[in-house]
Amino acid sequence: MTEPAINPAIFNWDGPHGLPRFTAIRDEDFKPAFEFALAAHNAEIDAIAQNPDAPTFANTITALEIAGDELSRVSSIFWNKAGSDTNEAIQHLEREISPVMSRHYSKIGQNEQLFKRIDTLWENRDSLGLTLEETRVLERHWKGFVKSGAKLPKEQQKRLAEINEKLSSLGTNFGQNVLADEKNWFLLLSDEDELSGLPDFVRDAMASAAEARGEKGKYAVTLSRSIIEPFLTFSDRRDLREQAFNAWTARGENPGPTDNREIIAETVALRDEKAKLLGYPHYAALKLDNTMAKDAGTVNALLMKVWEKARLRALEEEADLARLIAEEGRNHGVQPWDWRHFAEKLRARTFNFSESELKPYLQLEKIIEACFAVAGKLFSVKAVRRTDIAGYHPDVRVYEIRDFDDKLVALFMGDYFARSSKRSGAWMSAFQSQHKLPLKNGIKGEIPIIYNVCNFAKPAEGKPALLSIDDARTLFHEFGHALHGMLSDVTYPTVSGTSVSRDFVELPSQLYEHWLTVPAILKEYALHYETGAPMPEELLGKVLAARTFNAGFNTVEFTSSALVDMAFHTRPPGGDPMVLTADVLAEIGMPSSIVMRHRTPHFSHVFSGDGYSAGYYSYMWSEVLDADAFEAFMETSNPFNAETAKRLKENIYSVGGSIDPEDAYKAFRGKLPSPDAMLKKKGLAA
Ligand SMILES: [Zn+2]
Repeated sequence: MTEPAINPAIFNWDGPHGLPRFTAIRDEDFKPAFEFALAAHNAEIDAIAQNPDAPTFANTITALEIAGDELSRVSSIFWNKAGSDTNEAIQHLEREISPVMSRHYSKIGQNEQLFKRIDTLWENRDSLGLTLEETRVLERHWKGFVKSGAKLPKEQQKRLAEINEKLSSLGTNFGQNVLADEKNWFLLLSDEDELSGLPDFVRDAMASAAEARGEKGKYAVTLSRSIIEPFLTFSDRRDLREQAFNAWTARGENPGPTDNREIIAETVALRDEKAKLLGYPHYAALKLDNTMAKDAGTVNALLMKVWEKARLRALEEEADLARLIAEEGRNHGVQPWDWRHFAEKLRARTFNFSESELKPYLQLEKIIEACFAVAGKLFSVKAVRRTDIAGYHPDVRVYEIRDFDDKLVALFMGDYFARSSKRSGAWMSAFQSQHKLPLKNGIKGEIPIIYNVCNFAKPAEGKPALLSIDDARTLFHEFGHALHGMLSDVTYPTVSGTSVSRDFVELPSQLYEHWLTVPAILKEYALHYETGAPMPEELLGKVLAARTFNAGFNTVEFTSSALVDMAFHTRPPGGDPMVLTADVLAEIGMPSSIVMRHRTPHFSHVFSGDGYSAGYYSYMWSEVLDADAFEAFMETSNPFNAETAKRLKENIYSVGGSIDPEDAYKAFRGKLPSPDAMLKKKGLAA
């Protein structure tokens, strides 16, 4: 029998600064690499479990922390590819490997000998002389094993492993179905009449999208947020808006092979069964166990407090839009495909500027510079572009992040443009997380290798990439996550960077968004792409004044999604998920002119993988924190106050999960926040 060939480039990252040499890796290399890495990890786990010496933190927990190096290397490269540049071969392997990984981790989580060692350490934790970080690392491992069923009888362990494996496959299929629906639908336009109302930047983006689909000279409406949202905003053609809106919101609900409704029903039922096996009343209780919010009641109370205010505001906004529609002599109500269009008209009228006036001032290149400049002012780091180093795709830029003494702190990659091989949305992830443990090869610690993926419309040849203000916020948001990974300064990988509780993880990212609209930053970086002139004070003033415009709509879109997510994971499962969705929306009095930000059949946060199930609320929870945290700067009247920034870095951006998030926040701010600053920021305070 011949061993399948292992491509060493997957494991030996011998590119500059220890980067993988991405161009040396082919799709067919992943499968044998996974097989090798899984076997290597199993051997390491066995050695730890069967160690004849009595368990110590070092021979058990530290050993577990550094085990699986090959597996994390191949995984990080593979999942990056699956998310940002997939193809049929990768999707096929993704479906194959998801359940294998699930089985692998179930087996480790149910390894009796290993759990016995960890349990012994946990029972004796007070006498082991552990640091706070070590205690938290031990707790993560112990709780992880308990949630893998380590304390359950054999029969139930087996069932739990089956459930996890099935859930993992369902999540993969859910995500692939949404991607397929996004990829398969586009609307080709060519007549001037069909393009009525669309500003140049939308036309340009649509022209590039058409060209990418082999239709040069035409214009394509696609379901990428960076095209569909401006199309719905600016298109004068109500019939086309309706058609596009319906396609956008039907993702995952189209009958046929990409229909996600059955997948959701099965997922929810299995999650409920899993929670009950582990002794929780419902899945939300299991998921919230390790968060700041702690229980479903607390989450729902926050959401409902905001919902009531947001809904009333949205109904007022709807009445304003209806008035505008009537004034234009039109004879129709406010439908979901009308909202963005007329809201933009109303905003242009009320604040006397249009989104499309802003865009020439928001050059991608300059906003990236602004992102780095803010990091310099707050955290004393700079970015050095390395055009000579290849990223994982030709569109990817590679940067060294250095401190002001020129010491390398991290590597950063930015992957900003939409492509049809990339899933929608924006995210941060890591090829390598920061830690300080000695590795097998004797090297101590690793610098973080972090990347951001976005979906901004790629400009036509020779044109500059221009962003909307929302795009620019997204860029800052993801870079905030990136900083959380890059400024991490902990010993153990398990608590590195963004490995914090879910409702805390959006704090560094959402907080970072605040600096985009700090006047000093806009003045320096919001420069017109043709004239180089800064955004006029007056326009800037209007932008800031308009920040809470349409807050009812935005908050209703978000909060309804969060409430539906909570309902799926607190109510008894069974029945049609679309019926449950409709029930929840009826109960809360969802305005008929607005749909959920993510409708259930494409609610990837919740159903494609487990990341944000019973956790979509986290964005708002973190917003309570970020609004209050930014107040800490504004109270000093200096958005870059050095002392506040130092406390922020020391207590939030660099500690990862090494201390309790409540304690971290209090150390930064002196107290926990109330939702008031968040409601004020949204313009929803009484
Ligand atoms: Zn985020």
